[in-house]
Amino acid sequence: MAKSWKTRLIHSDVRVPQGYRSLASPVFRGSTTLFPDAASVDDSWDQYEVGYTYGLYGTPTTLELAGKICELEKGYRTIVTPGGQGAISLINLALLKSGDHILIPENVYTPNRQLARNVLRRFGVETTFYPPEVGAGIKDLLRENTRLVWCESPGSITMEVEDVPAIAEAAHARGVLVALDNTWAAGVYFDAFAHGVDINMQALTKYVGGHSDVLLGSVTVKDSKLYQQLGATQQLLGSAASPDDCSLALRGMRTMAVRLHHIEASALQIARYLAARSEIDLVLHPGLEGSPGHELWKRDFTGSAGVFPIVFKPQATKAEVLAFVDGLELFEIGYSWGGVTSLAVAYDFHGSKGRPDYGHRIVRLNIGLEDTADLIDDLERCLGQVWGK
Ligand SMILES: *Cc1c(COP(=O)(O)O)cnc(C)c1O
Repeated sequence: MAKSWKTRLIHSDVRVPQGYRSLASPVFRGSTTLFPDAASVDDSWDQYEVGYTYGLYGTPTTLELAGKICELEKGYRTIVTPGGQGAISLINLALLKSGDHILIPENVYTPNRQLARNVLRRFGVETTFYPPEVGAGIKDLLRENTRLVWCESPGSITMEVEDVPAIAEAAHARGVLVALDNTWAAGVYFDAFAHGVDINMQALTKYVGGHSDVLLGSVTVKDSKLYQQLGATQQLLGSAASPDDCSLALRGMRTMAVRLHHIEASALQIARYLAARSEIDLVLHPGLEGSPGHELWKRDFTGSAGVFPIVFKPQATKAEVLAFVDGLELFEIGYSWGGVTSLAVAYDFHGSKGRPDYGHRIVRLNIGLEDTADLIDDLERCLGQVWGK
């Protein structure tokens, strides 16, 4: 019997020529994954072990991105998450249980801190926030029940560089795991596993995506035990990354070296220009000679990113700082960073006890791919406009 057109909408006899090849990574979308026969049906999440079973655990597009991140970070395996913050929560939820204690740097990415304070605490996980300069001194903060030490280097907004190898050595001496938020280094400027890190994550949203149009994260581990723990938890959390987003990240990766190269040089040139301006007290760029953390950065990193804050002189009023950000023409105002567009965000930053208190004087810049001289012109014009000559 001839099939109805309604059935043909779904079961068609159309065949396209085989053998197509292109340079682009194909986007494999799918919830249902087909099995060859009834006996092969399986719901295991580890697609490397059992083959493809369900879209939630990854399609070839997701796994291609995971594989390429893993290769760059020199890990055992990578899990792609729907955002950088999703990678952070996956790590915590996979590795912690009620009664555990964790250590988090005081300058950590704010949602990481809030996850510990607002969510992990409800599940009986206790957090101590430690000064990012702690180094080997972390040993005095380790408790019987400490399970995980978080590092983020340089830290968000204030950019202190951590002595990760010293922290890892002290943690490992007590059997404690070390997780690193390696977003600033794009997974390439700091070799996490060579410096003792056990779990390396980054927000692919930033330099891997590179165009401010995608939210993705990654978690890379160096052994199969951690991979099993993280993978099994991700299955249950149900947090799958979209293959369409992964294909954008795969495209972003192809140009990442050139973008990073330009951004590093441009940001350093702009940082040097700003450091010489009388209106500015501090330029907190670890790649800048004489900046806090520069020596550790030089020891451990192979490059620097394009996001850094400037701190205006104490006499700068809040209204002046806001007028400066508003007056910039090439720098747009908005969160996130790592894209092609330069950004400026004013913070009202009051560090916790013992931390620097920059108040309203701190502005974070993200340097994009615009011409460096044009960006400096914009900054110079705006500094003159607000603070006069
Ligand atoms: C942006 C960022 C994240 C979170 O990434 P999202 O993809 O926006 O969730 C985590 N850590 C750091 C250091 C970041 O800058």
